[in-house]
Amino acid sequence: MEEQQVAAAEQIVDHTSENVASSVNQKLRPVDNGKPEMLWRSDDCNHHPDDFCYICGYFITRTTTKHTLRKDTKLYEAYKQYFNIEVEHQDKQWVPHYACHNCTRRLHGWYQGENRLMEFAVPRIWHSPSNHQTDCYFCVVNLASGQKKSTYPDIPSSRAPIPHSAERPIPQRTCETAVSTTTISTVSGSSVPSSESLQLQGGVLNIPHYPNQTEINDLIRDLALPKNKSELLLSRLKQWSLLDESVRITSQRTRDEEFSSYYTSEDGICFCRDIEGGYFYLFG
Ligand SMILES: [Zn+2]
Ligand SMILES: [Zn+2]
Repeated sequence: MEEQQVAAAEQIVDHTSENVASSVNQKLRPVDNGKPEMLWRSDDCNHHPDDFCYICGYFITRTTTKHTLRKDTKLYEAYKQYFNIEVEHQDKQWVPHYACHNCTRRLHGWYQGENRLMEFAVPRIWHSPSNHQTDCYFCVVNLASGQKKSTYPDIPSSRAPIPHSAERPIPQRTCETAVSTTTISTVSGSSVPSSESLQLQGGVLNIPHYPNQTEINDLIRDLALPKNKSELLLSRLKQWSLLDESVRITSQRTRDEEFSSYYTSEDGICFCRDIEGGYFYLFG
């Protein structure tokens, strides 16, 4: 019965591979052409849509804050102004109904005149899925743990964000309540360039980047910093507002726990007791 429904839905839902990029300055519409949608239930998915961010599509962990997308909020207005499109389909199950803390902080900051920007000019764009196997973001997405990076698909029902470039510049704020950047954007007494003053350098847009937990973990690993120096580095970067909100200063204290089950210590010697398990955890 379900196969018949899916097959019928594949016939009636018209997903074209339109280029979202060409529509960046136009109001984006779903590609359903007014045709009836397939019978799609989030209960049938590997992951629940509301565990993801509507704007970037990233998984929102249970320890981070979710922000509701409501019409009467600044976030809603900021999204509309930054991307020149509306938040859509909030009455449907097949879109997330929340934004992650990182997107919210960046959009709020930009909207209020702070030196914060989105990393992309076009957000993730959602359409109705045609099936769970190949065209459902919440079934296809590959969430990884440990050192493995999650991979987020670019499929007809969920188009990946498109970065800023010379053709897709940082938008100008039009909000009347936007405040001057000079009152906020200082680091150690030095003025930080406002979003309007950011320029292309060597063809690459010079956008400030605030590393998240994964990126800062990679940096600490590359620098081979011990726990105490890692914590000092994170503390300073946090103090200067140069880190993503998701980064925890104390995160390095327990960084060994992830792999501790694969090691043991006997007679003062520490050795790997489960090479195969550790290998599959890292690369499997
Ligand atoms: Zn699904
Ligand atoms: Zn997000």
